[in-house]
Amino acid sequence: MNIVVENYADYKEKEIFGRYINNDSISNLNSKYSSEVCGYSVNNLPIHFFKIGSGKTKLLIWSQMHGNESTSTKALFDSISFFYKHEQAVFDDLTLLVIPILNPDGAFKYTRENYNNVDLNRDAVDLSQPESIVLKKIYDKFKPDFCFNLHGQRSIYSTINFNSSILSFLSPSSDFDRNETDSRVKSMKIILDIFDNLKTLIPNNIGRYNDEFNINCVGDTFQSLNTPTILFESGHYSQDYSREISRYYTSLAITYAIKSICSKGFNLQNHKNYYKIPENSTSLCDVFIKNIKIKQSSLSQPVDLSILYKEKLNLVSKEIEFFPEISEFGNLDKVSGHLLSDFISIDKVFNISVENELNEIVIIAKKLRNIH
Ligand SMILES: [Zn+2]
Repeated sequence: MNIVVENYADYKEKEIFGRYINNDSISNLNSKYSSEVCGYSVNNLPIHFFKIGSGKTKLLIWSQMHGNESTSTKALFDSISFFYKHEQAVFDDLTLLVIPILNPDGAFKYTRENYNNVDLNRDAVDLSQPESIVLKKIYDKFKPDFCFNLHGQRSIYSTINFNSSILSFLSPSSDFDRNETDSRVKSMKIILDIFDNLKTLIPNNIGRYNDEFNINCVGDTFQSLNTPTILFESGHYSQDYSREISRYYTSLAITYAIKSICSKGFNLQNHKNYYKIPENSTSLCDVFIKNIKIKQSSLSQPVDLSILYKEKLNLVSKEIEFFPEISEFGNLDKVSGHLLSDFISIDKVFNISVENELNEIVIIAKKLRNIH
């Protein structure tokens, strides 16, 4: 089976979509793979896991360690569905252990942190939270040969020339000197295999995360224990706020990474090429407006204005809503937006500290829009 766009509908898990993914959303999928409970969250929600395959190579994957980073969970289920439907032979080589939602309280509340407001990706040493202990116990018992640490990144991330960072990757450091240890090098090579497979589809939209060492991050800890660990970050593209486009590319990335591990194809890569993947920068906003007149600027000279959406869970509709907030204004040469607008022809002077006026700005910007 060829992994091409036309075939995606055949294996995509259509019952999950959008940004709000929690334990309830994935209950059928957990059942499909005969999941079991491996522990409970602070607020006593079950943490599910399932195992597929009986192969010698052991791969541990977890997602939604940050509760509101749901895109990679959708992508993970798509990728598993692909193998389950079309390439079951991988499970002769591979034993896959999956924790689809490590932070079910954060997923339910749509927060990055867990119920105690702790960032689980800074708790790898302290192990102060039940969710962190669950992951560490599974790691110790399963003894994986490889780990995938699945996350989602904000819309601010870009690669070169203001291109959206639809995907970014990190081979975490094992130490402060960022030495190229065996496990780091293996992770780099697998990332290069993913990059090679995706570069014809999205050549300008793949970034590399900063590799500053932080032992409190789970990836850095596991890498320092000599387990090749890859951080996947599912990013943003254009006006796709449901993140179904980056879901697709993330699912391809996971699929290619698994194929690379099974075939050991990554061994052919020169890890030095990893550093050629452009490092992420944070130069994008959701709405970028040029030449807008605002009361806050002296002499009402036109300025540039960058707006970021704040994401909020609507408890009634169970959907994520997006509220504009000012990021910065002035002469913003190093910023661009997923939506670009030039207000040169608009005479009105806006008061950007008034919520209604900010909403009006976004409505006008959408009419005048020039989508990045
Ligand atoms: Zn994250």
